[in-house]
Amino acid sequence: MEMNAEIKALLVSIGSANIDESLLKEAAETTIPSAGPGAGLESFFMKSGNHRVRLSINKNSPLKVVRHKNGVVVIKDKKAIVTGALEPALSHCPEQAYITISGRCIHNCKFCPVPKLQGDVKSVDKILQLVEEAEQRGELRAIALTSGVAESADKETKKTVKVMRALKERYDLPIGVSIYPTETSSQELYEAGATEIKYNVESMDPEVFKHFCPGMSLPLVLKSLEKSVEIFGDNRVASNFILGLGESDECVIRGLSQLAEMGVIPILRPISPHPLRTKEAKVQRPSAERLLKLAKIARKVLDDYGLRADLAETMCLPCTGCDITPHRDI
Ligand code: SF4
Repeated sequence: MEMNAEIKALLVSIGSANIDESLLKEAAETTIPSAGPGAGLESFFMKSGNHRVRLSINKNSPLKVVRHKNGVVVIKDKKAIVTGALEPALSHCPEQAYITISGRCIHNCKFCPVPKLQGDVKSVDKILQLVEEAEQRGELRAIALTSGVAESADKETKKTVKVMRALKERYDLPIGVSIYPTETSSQELYEAGATEIKYNVESMDPEVFKHFCPGMSLPLVLKSLEKSVEIFGDNRVASNFILGLGESDECVIRGLSQLAEMGVIPILRPISPHPLRTKEAKVQRPSAERLLKLAKIARKVLDDYGLRADLAETMCLPCTGCDITPHRDI
């Protein structure tokens, strides 16, 4: 009973599972994302057929994951719906060291727990150590860097460039970067050796963006994405577009075309409502049907513009854990 896009959409729409702790211990790794909307929730990865899913661990989830032969089976309403195997994360996700430089942020996006968590700001040495540890855990295929904005976007870019240079001296691996852009960040990161860039639009609905991301600029993100495509080329620039902030499907479809026309690969990311943000943000995780419908449209839009989501080497597009990824899942 291998996973397919429909089953994955169902799992992603629920987003969590109740799993035996002994199974997790055996799989040796759980991962606690330290950046972005999923930050702070413990999760695990499951692989089945050509698909991978990340689910957060929740005792009250309608999904239960139990041992089955050499792997696991997911049960819903007392019925087995998919079998697979748990997959260890190297650092945050499988096959990559995905490191958060600054686990704090001066911005205050209403869906994001990072500003509330006030996490640590890692030194270059600490980051090198984390990548080295990831490399010892398994086959490391890529390095990815992300960051909140600890003091200013400019300082964050400079620090990221410093980290990039230190990593480039030690590793011959693709490195992807996802930070808040500045006027010059694309050029600076390219010169430092970045392979791919992700600047998140969060929403392509300007009203939704203004409401959820006060103090940030959607025009700046869009302009920076455009500049990145000029510098890095096609299939090297991506952007998270969150589903579940109150945007309409029409807006999503328009936004998909606008981004693809610019040469940017949109990542439709279901919102993960976070306990630290329940009072501030009315959000709704999208249904399996909506996820599937919009992923199919995203695939078609990418095809129309001659873009490929499966050529990416770093960050979320090759991971696929949180999304229905065109050209990989559908
Ligand atoms: S899809 Fe992205 S955010 Fe989700 S687990 Fe993979 S790398 Fe992390």
